[in-house]
Amino acid sequence: MTTKINFNGEIFDELSISVMDHGFLFGDSVYEVVSTLNNQPCFLDKHLDRLNNSAQAISLKIPRDRGWFREQLKSTLVSAGNEESYIRIIVTRGIGEINIDPSSCANPNIILIVMDVTKYSESFYEKGIQVALVSIKRNPLDSLNPNIKTGNYLNNVLAKMEAEKLGAQDAIMVNPWGYLTEGTTSNLFFVCEGHILTPSMECGILSGITREIIIQLAKENGFHIEEGKWPGAELLKADEIFLTGTIKKVMPVSHLDGRPVGTGKPGPITLNLLRLYDDLLTKKV
Ligand code: PLP
Repeated sequence: MTTKINFNGEIFDELSISVMDHGFLFGDSVYEVVSTLNNQPCFLDKHLDRLNNSAQAISLKIPRDRGWFREQLKSTLVSAGNEESYIRIIVTRGIGEINIDPSSCANPNIILIVMDVTKYSESFYEKGIQVALVSIKRNPLDSLNPNIKTGNYLNNVLAKMEAEKLGAQDAIMVNPWGYLTEGTTSNLFFVCEGHILTPSMECGILSGITREIIIQLAKENGFHIEEGKWPGAELLKADEIFLTGTIKKVMPVSHLDGRPVGTGKPGPITLNLLRLYDDLLTKKV
């Protein structure tokens, strides 16, 4: 149960960071969450690609290359010595003046948090979770584009709080035009009459690494899968709903707005994809 924190290449048990870091002051940072198998990072190249894309999108120049990240992660994972780890990679704008202009921040900070992973309990996968369609909207593309994974998650925090008030474990957000987008930290899939449907990038979502893999697995295994635009009400017709994410993997949804989805139990397509995803993970690492 060890946590180690790598700060710009030095490993600590605990870390304090300046309150003048714009990551703290304004959420001016980018990040990734990476899971492990046999304590080796899963899909690390894809995560580092997305980290670079997010940084580029906010004109944040990451001062280290991919090789540096690989090396530092390796030594931090060894130092933590967990059976499996939760890895968070954060790059902040760095310390600057106490105003929103990032030009005073000369040195981005790189933080790698490695901790013992808290996996979702088996009962979540056996029973499914409850979600609610909330009133908080996912940011539109021309605002803070949801495809940039920044440290500014307050919109999603508000959505999660609304879901909890409604008695659900997670929220599904629509965009300002009423089209389905995603969960607070996961992508959304639903099944209608045997077809797997998932909101397209133009709806305003994060291009989830698990989402990409699920789309590919579904295609390779003969499922009909479609990316598109669907109004929130379409979800009420779904026979199955599931969420995808690095730690969640493929999480079945049993109830939407307090009503059972299909039979109220994880559906066959969801369980099939969860199995295919687990098989792929064990083959890949
Ligand atoms: N959507 C949002 C808003 C997220 O924050 C995340 C993950 O944190 C995802 C989707 C799922 O992405 P991934 O599968 O890469 O973990």
